[in-house]
Amino acid sequence: MARRDFLAFWTRCLWVLGAAHLLGLPERCGAQSAQKGLIKAKLSPYFTRLNGGTIQCDLCPRHCRMDPGERGFCRVRENQQGQCYTLAYGNPCVIHVDPIERKPFFHVLPGTTSLSLATAGCNFDCKFCQTWEISQASPEDVYSYDMPSFFIIDTATEMGVRSIAYTYVEPVIFCEYMLDLGPLAKRAGLLRVVHSNGFISPAPLGDLCGVLDAANIDLKGFTETFYRELCLGELAPVLETLKALKQHGIHLEITHLVIPLKNDDMSLIREMCLWVGKELGVDTPVHFSRFYPLHKLRNLPPTPVKTLEQARVVALSAGLEYVYIGNVPGHEGENTFCPRCKRLLIRRTGYMIGEMHLKDGQCGYCGKPIPGIWE
Ligand code: SF4
Repeated sequence: MARRDFLAFWTRCLWVLGAAHLLGLPERCGAQSAQKGLIKAKLSPYFTRLNGGTIQCDLCPRHCRMDPGERGFCRVRENQQGQCYTLAYGNPCVIHVDPIERKPFFHVLPGTTSLSLATAGCNFDCKFCQTWEISQASPEDVYSYDMPSFFIIDTATEMGVRSIAYTYVEPVIFCEYMLDLGPLAKRAGLLRVVHSNGFISPAPLGDLCGVLDAANIDLKGFTETFYRELCLGELAPVLETLKALKQHGIHLEITHLVIPLKNDDMSLIREMCLWVGKELGVDTPVHFSRFYPLHKLRNLPPTPVKTLEQARVVALSAGLEYVYIGNVPGHEGENTFCPRCKRLLIRRTGYMIGEMHLKDGQCGYCGKPIPGIWE
């Protein structure tokens, strides 16, 4: 077995055993140990100068206005002498090797691993955030690694992963890092995948589309009220992002975390699925993910599995062809079925692949093309 394949095999095994943190990934590849508050400010191209040294950040639809010395909502954009600097560049606070199914991507290189990274900060404030310790932190509050782009690529190559994943928190806020990593990753033969809230302005999104291969976008709810009250965000720009990604030919999957009493109304789920089918295509994979009580919604119960199953039935009856249930390991809704001949194409248990019956991106039984990046 080649050294690269050997490392890839063992990193996947260690991850499944819950021991990925033992790998000490950045140190293996020459980075220094994590340092508290590591910041390497970099000038952002996404801002407008206003009067009196004030600036407006144009990266996301929040359009924060910052006086000199102030930071934006996400905590990682700062007005330094009338210019906008990102404080989330080359300083990931999380760097892990994960199965790509964890992102979740079910139609992208199944059974492979991804070098996954995140920085502090977020442009939303979701009451149900699973990673609030870092998403709602400033860069000076967390331990970060000094990881210039070439270190990330070297690490990925060394570990034998097939992709780089921008994930865990909101990658939009480290946009410039993704823009620089993208071409290097492509040259190294690595896919570039992102899991995002989709809350980004059209211009930076257009730039990002040039350096991404696949995106999983959270469609957290299907009303402006949900986005406003539970995320301090907006729905409309997220829908525009989904349409733009589709137009740019980026492979697209959607995650909808189903939260009891908050976004589990089946009529709204049906409306959302009809919108997905009409605007993005019925072959867009949709993941209904199970909520567990966390952060500011600890008073709610976990999503009943029955609710997820109901959502899946609603989505299938709305015409969607690839509908999954997430965070319920071993559930039949984790598997991929051919929409034409109904045969099982990919069997999954948690993040493990059991069997796969695809041939050249087509159903191995009836030949129907299955959307995704398969090789
Ligand atoms: S990226 Fe951050 S600073 Fe810029 S508009 Fe969005 S929340 Fe505000």
